[in-house]
Amino acid sequence: MKIAIIGAGFGGLAAAYDLNKAGHEVVVFESASHVGGLAAGFKEPGWDWSVEKFYHHWFQSDSSMMGLIQELGLMDKVIFPRPLTVMYFNGKFYPFDSILNALLFPGLGFGLNKIRFGFVGLFLRLTDNWRALEKVTAHAWMLKWAGKQVYEQMWKPLLVGKFGPFYQDVNMAWMWARIKARTTRLGTFEGGFQRFADVFAEKLRGMGVEIRLGAQVKFIKQNQASGGLNVDVESFDQVLVTASPSLMAKICPDLPEEYLKGLLELKSMGAVVMTLSLKHQLSKEGYYWFNLPKEAGFPMLALVEHTNFVSPEHFGGDRIVYAGDYLELGHEYFSLSDDELLERFIPAFKRINPEFEKEWVKKVWVNKTNYAQPVPLVNHSKNIPAIQTPIEGLYFASMSQVYPWDRGTNFAVEIGRRAAKMMLEN
Ligand SMILES: Cc1cc2nc3c(=O)[nH]c(=O)nc-3n(C[C@H](O)[C@H](O)[C@H](O)COP(=O)(O)OP(=O)(O)OC[C@H]3O[C@@H](n4cnc5c(N)ncnc54)[C@H](O)[C@@H]3O)c2cc1C
Repeated sequence: MKIAIIGAGFGGLAAAYDLNKAGHEVVVFESASHVGGLAAGFKEPGWDWSVEKFYHHWFQSDSSMMGLIQELGLMDKVIFPRPLTVMYFNGKFYPFDSILNALLFPGLGFGLNKIRFGFVGLFLRLTDNWRALEKVTAHAWMLKWAGKQVYEQMWKPLLVGKFGPFYQDVNMAWMWARIKARTTRLGTFEGGFQRFADVFAEKLRGMGVEIRLGAQVKFIKQNQASGGLNVDVESFDQVLVTASPSLMAKICPDLPEEYLKGLLELKSMGAVVMTLSLKHQLSKEGYYWFNLPKEAGFPMLALVEHTNFVSPEHFGGDRIVYAGDYLELGHEYFSLSDDELLERFIPAFKRINPEFEKEWVKKVWVNKTNYAQPVPLVNHSKNIPAIQTPIEGLYFASMSQVYPWDRGTNFAVEIGRRAAKMMLEN
């Protein structure tokens, strides 16, 4: 068969790998000038490693991704350093990346709340019954079972930061999936995620996969004469789209109304992430990941000092910091200039390190995407578009369908390979 894949993110690349191995002719169309999708990175002259446009790491539990890397023979390039994650409470940051540190964290007090926090965490790690949890919002469930103080200190800031105006609407299965599937050890690829995507793409090219960069697909239509599908003007037997639901709806207008409606009703958040190269280390304590509550006046959700995770040597001695936020479309951060955004963020940098000065900043890059985080509402499993669409030969595999898991490169690989398997069986 001749198969087209739209998108050279990790989902598209993983599907291309399996379809090619099964003996099919595979062409990958990618509108960007590089592979990697949302996990792509960039590199300055003088840097040996790339940094991701949107901060990225793996969890030790990312079994689909680790399994793929193993198959590709690249496991020796995966590293799991031991970065420090901290939580804000009353003007100070506290380490929060082990059970011991969680027990010592003063934000939860030292009595009943800590016990409730512990039991809720344990229950969520042990249960597999996410279908019961998706019937209720995380807001209501956590208030009831973890209690007001634990909810407001721990879980509400996460929900507000990730989902803004939808924070009370997200279902509890989303929270379950994060707690269930994540480890405190964090990993990356030597050279950065872009290096991995490039090595993977080279391997695919070597196997005979054609990857067309700068190739933006405008439409996919049924070809009545051949019984196949046209990707723009070229005919294929099967097509897999790995882009956002709204893009899928736009390029495949022939999809039945019901399927199109399902795509367009899915909610998601965008993201704005500033990357800075600094002359000096921002966190003197060497903290990597700062969880920042909006209610304490921080202008972003996450502040991440990448060079407290991997060595600044890989970046010519520059210190790399990300400041990012998940935002609803139309939020003013999408239209601010890079300088205006930097001015908003500077007071937060000073709260991390009072010695911080604007002249520490060597350069900033701002990356924006409309499609960063699907928003799963109550009973979301009923609203997931099927991978096999009602059009014969047309398949769709996106971040919005990895539910109940939260989006991530691990699940992009999982759904890409699952879609490939379905295509091979039909
Ligand atoms: C802020 C942020 C932080 C994240 N942090 C992490 C993390 O720490 N760890 C982790 O594992 N994951 C993280 N993720 C999620 C991860 O990036 C995604 O889950 C994953 O990259 C999705 O892969 P994909 O292949 O499904 O889609 P994408 O990577 O979105 O790939 C789709 C591709 O399709 C292309 N495309 C779109 N339209 C067309 C068209 N018309 N024609 C041709 N090509 C087209 C796009 O250019 C893109 O390359 C993060 C995401 C964001 C936004």
